[in-house]
Amino acid sequence: MRGAAARLILLLALAAIVGRTTIDARVASLAPVASEGASQTSIAAPAESAGQPARPAAASSSGQDPWGFEDEQTVETWSDILRSQALNLALVASFFALALVSFLRRSVRLKYVTLAATIGYMGFAKSYLISIVNVFGVVKWDLPIVKYNLAWYLFAILAVLSTLLWGRLYCGRMCAFGAVTQIMDALLPAKLRVEAPAPIERRAVWIKYGLLVAVVAYFVATNDLLVYRYVEPFWMFGLSGTAPMWIGLSALLIATVFVRNLYCRFLCPVGATLGLLSRLTVFRIKRWSECRTCRICEKACEWDAIHGPTIDVMECVRCDDCERIYADTEKCPHWIVLKRKSGRMAGAAGAR
Ligand code: SF4
Ligand code: SF4
Ligand code: SF4
Repeated sequence: MRGAAARLILLLALAAIVGRTTIDARVASLAPVASEGASQTSIAAPAESAGQPARPAAASSSGQDPWGFEDEQTVETWSDILRSQALNLALVASFFALALVSFLRRSVRLKYVTLAATIGYMGFAKSYLISIVNVFGVVKWDLPIVKYNLAWYLFAILAVLSTLLWGRLYCGRMCAFGAVTQIMDALLPAKLRVEAPAPIERRAVWIKYGLLVAVVAYFVATNDLLVYRYVEPFWMFGLSGTAPMWIGLSALLIATVFVRNLYCRFLCPVGATLGLLSRLTVFRIKRWSECRTCRICEKACEWDAIHGPTIDVMECVRCDDCERIYADTEKCPHWIVLKRKSGRMAGAAGAR
């Protein structure tokens, strides 16, 4: 009897050990899955959003794992995410540093180096351009996932921040399409250009604001993102256009030969958006009292952003042209008058 009881106890103990081991194995396999699941909802998001079906939970049909749990999952940490995008982040930061130095030093040579880098890297290599699609994204608050697009967000933040600080620096230095038209402008003979009467040009700049309102209203009403193809040519840097789109772009570039910065000045809805934002600009271009009558800078401005003593911040792209004249003691009447005055005062002091 005692022997039978001992065997029963031994059997129960063995059953408990086997049962415990199985439960422990399942808990152990569950634990990482549960904790990763809590932290990786958004990591899984791109695959899900790309329409990929979720992986089956287990290989139970293979008979290898009767519990049907994943054996292992890769945990993506912020350091992995940053490491994979570090080069891009560094290149965007370096590019912005170049643009800023060229702007602050008012260097013509550095400006063209920046424009070349803008076309090559921001345009053809990365296709980093602020697009009307991004304006749509802001309107519907549907933006790219931050952690997978860090370099693009850095670029976009710098574009907006520089606009708030100085005005449309993005248009003057950082937009690849604007860089193409500015380089065309510098290379093509000035005699090819057709100057429309100033009142017509000044009214025509409002076309882009009308286009911005129309295209955003169209998007809100239809959710049709593809409308961007008809209002901006930035797809050219991804070489992704259809034949009619390339024909339209060729016509636009041919027209740009004759009308300087045609698209940027009259048609670009992104330029219009940044123009509106520029109304908040902190550091504006200063003017001398002599600017009330002097027209030197007005004639030099290739963006028709100077009207008499006033600079139209919505049209100015901070190209530096007028600021170079502003600081030029040989060209700007303000300095010339000042020098004459100080010369006269020195002469009068010498005569006494
Ligand atoms: S106006 Fe448009 S195309 Fe021109 S530089 Fe600005 S954003 Fe680029
Ligand atoms: S040249 Fe000098 S005075 Fe004349 S508009 Fe320019 S900054 Fe003003
Ligand atoms: S020249 Fe015209 S576009 Fe350039 S910085 Fe002066 S006002 Fe702005």
